[in-house]
Parts: sequence; structure tokens; C-alpha cells
Amino acid sequence: MNSYSRSLAGVCLALTTLLSAAVAPARAQDYPTRSITMIVPFAAGGPTDVIARIVTAHMAQTLGQSIIIENVVGAGGTTATARASRAANDGYTLITGHMGTHAASVPLYPNLAYHPEKNFEPVGLLAGTPILILARKDFAPKDLKDFVTYVKANAEKVNAAHAGIGSVSNVSCQLLHSILGVQPISVPFNGTGPAMNALVAGQVDYMCDQIVNAVPQINAGTIKAYAVATPQRNPSLPNVPTTAEAGLPAFQAQAWNAIFAPKGTPAPIIAKLNAAAAKALDDENVRKRLLELGSVIPQPADRTPEALATLVKNEITKWTAVLKPAG
Ligand code: ASP
Repeated sequence: MNSYSRSLAGVCLALTTLLSAAVAPARAQDYPTRSITMIVPFAAGGPTDVIARIVTAHMAQTLGQSIIIENVVGAGGTTATARASRAANDGYTLITGHMGTHAASVPLYPNLAYHPEKNFEPVGLLAGTPILILARKDFAPKDLKDFVTYVKANAEKVNAAHAGIGSVSNVSCQLLHSILGVQPISVPFNGTGPAMNALVAGQVDYMCDQIVNAVPQINAGTIKAYAVATPQRNPSLPNVPTTAEAGLPAFQAQAWNAIFAPKGTPAPIIAKLNAAAAKALDDENVRKRLLELGSVIPQPADRTPEALATLVKNEITKWTAVLKPAG
């Protein structure tokens, strides 16, 4: 390439850079001008999918564009999350992550293809999801004390369903198993939607799952719930005791679901998405559906991108401390 063409190429590059910098604010100002993809890292029908669909249906109204849910499964949600981390940072590809994909997976996957803080912009927290210990309805133990005795005595025979290494159901039950000192048979699924179907069918023995997946089944009597792993009972399941009431206070576990965008997504776009999510969480129909499924709706101060960044940092620290010793 001669010097003339080199200098022409330099001028073109400078102009392109200037032009793209000039249009970025305009692009953010007009955002969104087309439909948005929301990646859900688990199979349809599970807690993440249910929460994402409830909230994004309202967000779409606010943003004036459709939000298309894309269920991408595998590896406890990390396959989808790695893919989302590589998506264009233009606001048109988002992910509904959670305590597993954006915290517990960090200590569990040494070669994780992304880092929740380095490769994502936090958009906003959607819902807290208390964890329950659930079992097939004809599982022998009649209460949590019996469950503990039975699982300790039959650890090599009983099996626990989950949504893959690093999923909420996996890491919550890993915590339970480390407290009990057992390592039962592990049965992975592409999400706790399919896992719940297996539990209802009696094909697996028990599961630690997010409350939003369990309330309809518990109320229908198709599974049983031994306890909820939070300090207080959940208003959607007033008859389900806490783990403390049931004799296992050491087992405390609550997950959360939140929206993330690829790193570098412009701040005005993040702000628009955050505002739309916050508006959804203040909508009475959205609140009714989330609350009747046992979700904990975050207070406004906990819905900011900054609050989510702090939550992710703290949760990575917490689950690294919990899971490293558990191996
Ligand atoms: N939240 C996952 C799902 O929606 C389950 C999990 O993380 O265990 O299927």
C-alpha cells in the first residue's frame, strides 16, 4: 500500500470513528427501534423463564418494541451466559441471569468463558426467589427432620434433581448436602421446569428449587415441600415451615433473577431498560403474579444498576466461600 493510500485509509478510519461516536447518542436516544432478544439460560417453564416472561411482557409495552424470549440451555446456564457476553452491546440482546449464572458459577467453573462483572453491564434486579426443599409426593420422609435422617442413611440411593452445575437448584442443594455431609445421586436437567415435571412424575426424589416454580405444584398437592430456606415463612405458602422451624436453621438460601446487558452497552440504553423494568415491578398485575408465586419484589433502591453490581460482587464472594470448601 503506497503512502497516499495509507493516509487515505487513515482519514477514512478517523472519519468512521468520529461518525460512529456522533451517532451513538442518537442511536441511544431512539432506542429501541426494533425487537429485543431476551436470552433465558434455562428451559421454558422454569423459574427464570417465568419471571422473565412476566416482567418483559410489561417492559415491551413501555419500550414500544417486542421482547422475544430465547431459551438457550446447557451447563447450568453458563452456555447461554457466555453467548450473551459475546453479543453486540447495542441493547438488542439481553439476558435474564441469576445467582447461579452471575455468581455461583465463578467458583464452580475454573475456565468460565465470561466474568459476571467484566463482561456484563448490570441492568436491574427483578425478583428474589426463596429456595424450598421439595420432594415427590410419595417420598418416605414425612417432615424435614425425617428427610435429614433418611437422606443421611440412604445417601447412595436417593437422588436430587437440578438444572446443571452452577444452577440455583444445584448450588442450593450442594449447600444442603455439605451441611448434612452427604453426596447423593445428582440428576441434571436443562432447567427446573423439566426437573419439576420429573418430580411430579415421581422420577426423582427431591430438589432444592426457587419458590416460583413450586407454588402451583404444592398448592395442587402434586409434590411436597419440607421447608423454605428463609428466616420467615413465605406469604404464598403460609403452611410451609422455615428450615429453622423445621430443625435445620443452618440451611438458608435465597436466589435472585436480574437483567444484564453485554459490557459496553451505552449508559442511556441501560437507563431506559432499567426504567422499564422498574415500571414493570410497580405495575399491580405484574406484582400480583410475581407475589402469588412467592417472589420477593425488590424495593426501588435495590433496583438500580449500581445496586445489582454490588449484589453480584457480594454474591460471588459469598458463594466462593461456600462452594470452594464443599468442593
Ligand atoms: N433458574 C433455573 C431455571 O429457571 C433453575 C436453576 O437455576 O436451578 O430453570
